[in-house]
Amino acid sequence: MNRHHRLAIDRIACDGRGLCAELLPELIDLDEWGYPVIHGQAVPADLLGHARRAVAACPVLALRLERAAGDRPPPAA
Ligand code: SF4
Repeated sequence: MNRHHRLAIDRIACDGRGLCAELLPELIDLDEWGYPVIHGQAVPADLLGHARRAVAACPVLALRLERAAGDRPPPAA
């Protein structure tokens, strides 16, 4: 079975300052209220390091990187 990583947000904990979207604009946008919106289901392999840094930088530990089984991750650009 294939495994990949995906980002998840604890929407209760998130304070919407948008640091994650600044660090990982390839995968995270902000909605009209400044809260993050994640694009896609799987983190591409070439963005995994950036995703880990964004997770580590979240000031309230609201951003997580999860391992998931299922679809193949998109190919590296
Ligand atoms: S860095 Fe954390 S608290 Fe800030 S918008 Fe992203 S998920 Fe929310």
